Amino acid sequence: MVATPEELSENLAKRTPASVRAVMAQLQQAGYEAFIVGGCVRDALLGREPHDWDMTTNATPDQMKQAISYHSIDTGLKHGTITFVVDHEPIEVTTYRVDGAYSDGRRPDSVSFTTRLEDDLARRDFTVNAMAWSDATGVVDPFGGAQDLQNKLLRCVGDANDRFSEDGLRVMRALRFAAVYGFSVEEGTASAAHEKKWMLSHVSEERICTELTKMMKAPDGQHLATIVKQFADVMLQIMPELEPTYGLDQENPHHDRDCWTHMVDVMAQLPPDSTLRLTGLVHDAGKPACKVKGEDGVAHYLGHAEEGAKIVEAMLRRLKFPRRVIDEAVFLVAQHDTWPVPTMRSARRFLARCGDEEIARKLLALMKADRAAHAPASVAGKERELEDFGVLMEAALKEDTAFTVKDLEVNGRDLLERGWEQGPGLGAELQRLFDLVLAGDLPNERAALLAAIKM
Ligand code: ATP
Ligand code: MG
Repeated sequence: MVATPEELSENLAKRTPASVRAVMAQLQQAGYEAFIVGGCVRDALLGREPHDWDMTTNATPDQMKQAISYHSIDTGLKHGTITFVVDHEPIEVTTYRVDGAYSDGRRPDSVSFTTRLEDDLARRDFTVNAMAWSDATGVVDPFGGAQDLQNKLLRCVGDANDRFSEDGLRVMRALRFAAVYGFSVEEGTASAAHEKKWMLSHVSEERICTELTKMMKAPDGQHLATIVKQFADVMLQIMPELEPTYGLDQENPHHDRDCWTHMVDVMAQLPPDSTLRLTGLVHDAGKPACKVKGEDGVAHYLGHAEEGAKIVEAMLRRLKFPRRVIDEAVFLVAQHDTWPVPTMRSARRFLARCGDEEIARKLLALMKADRAAHAPASVAGKERELEDFGVLMEAALKEDTAFTVKDLEVNGRDLLERGWEQGPGLGAELQRLFDLVLAGDLPNERAALLAAIKM
């Protein structure tokens, strides 16, 4: 059943916070129109908590400042935006606006104010992002956004080819919204996205990185994978480093799908952590370069994890991912292929290798997802191995032991006090003690360690 405009309006009235209503009321009292608009209307109608409440009005920035008593910050005066602070919450209010021509496919050459809300809605990317609401007028939805929300359909406002030509980023936004909200992409919009994907080459890496990061957090990994597979060409447009994996026949009995599909399926299994999901999507990037076929016709991929780590490092740097994301992804890719056996000793070594319990859990999650996306016959009998390993790893974490040399209950100073001299020998002795602790041959206790120092 499609909700009536009255029902939609009632729903939005209920969800709009008092602070937003207060700004709306002040603009109305001064004789202006004022609406909540865009993402917040979409999210509120989906029953999700919007992360920001944007408003739009026919008042100019100067008029807004006169009409609204709250503290204001000039955050985007050129684009007609002023941020008002109500109860410590920022609310962005923007004058109705139309965008000029887009000659670079990146940003409009100019923006100009307009007096009609409908013109402002028409410049927006998708129908579900082009709705507005005010208590005075109710829902304004000239492009059928509410209907598309109901049908879980992502559709461009107007001609999809034109919209993507104006701003290539919208192609990525389409994939992101479809993935995150569990929508499918309307046919015309989908074919335009394929056709205009090259426009993404005009878009800054920072903007692509932002969309990709949001996309990877999609709550349903399987739906995310469906979108990534449908728009593999778009994904490869922004990550051409992965192109050789597409359709790569793995020619190995452990695998029953091509390398790209395997990576997407691994991503699908992972929890909605953007770095981890992204790592799943790229973890075998090194396979094409490392493929060597034996005389028996079986292909092997010796060294593909290290090779992949190099490719992923360069790719994520190019896409301007933050350093900590790059470091984590590169580590996980480099380590993903050394599956541990379920023993306490191996669990301690694994933790030592990771140096951080969160990273250790992520690496294990990646390995589990990787194993799950192998040919069923190849994993038979080994299903429990990584589960068991996980249990032992959590147990090892509860032990009061050392997982790096720094965790040892003795340090370099202790050795110096016992006659050791500064230099590589001292480091080697600490390492020897650490290896004993890791192997379970020595407790990480000060007295025991001191007694074990070679004199
Ligand atoms: P998010 O959940 O990430 O905030 P959003 O849709 O609210 O998603 P914003 O970047 O906050 O995204 O933009 C607010 C609104 O501005 C959008 O809902 C849409 O109407 C419009 N908009 C944003 N970016 C674009 C774009 N590249 N092209 C056209 N309209 C856009
Ligand atoms: Mg928003």
